[in-house]
Amino acid sequence: MSIRLFLTCHEHNKPLRARRESGIHLSHLLRIREEIAHRDELVAATLNGSLGEYLNLKGWNRWFSTASAAFLVHHRACRIGIGIVDEYGRPYSLVNDADRGAVPDRQHYIRATSVGA
Ligand SMILES: [Zn+2]
Repeated sequence: MSIRLFLTCHEHNKPLRARRESGIHLSHLLRIREEIAHRDELVAATLNGSLGEYLNLKGWNRWFSTASAAFLVHHRACRIGIGIVDEYGRPYSLVNDADRGAVPDRQHYIRATSVGA
């Protein structure tokens, strides 16, 4: 089953969703979670022009990870946290698949947020 997955940013009064999807299958959640966990590296690589090399190193999908990187760069100053939702607005855990569709644990957001270094 294909399903479009997007990053969201909860810093905003109404959480903002990325325009471009970061994945189109639930199996992409693993990579998307990694992208969020390595958000600082992804932002730095984008800003210093080494994103291509970084994605090769990670073995991540260039199309989807570039979309994630663009969103994370745009929201690099946001402190509350990045989340994952599908095309229907259903949130996904940043940690595992067990609570798919449930409201994500706020702790996960806090842990995933490490901006400002
Ligand atoms: Zn934001």
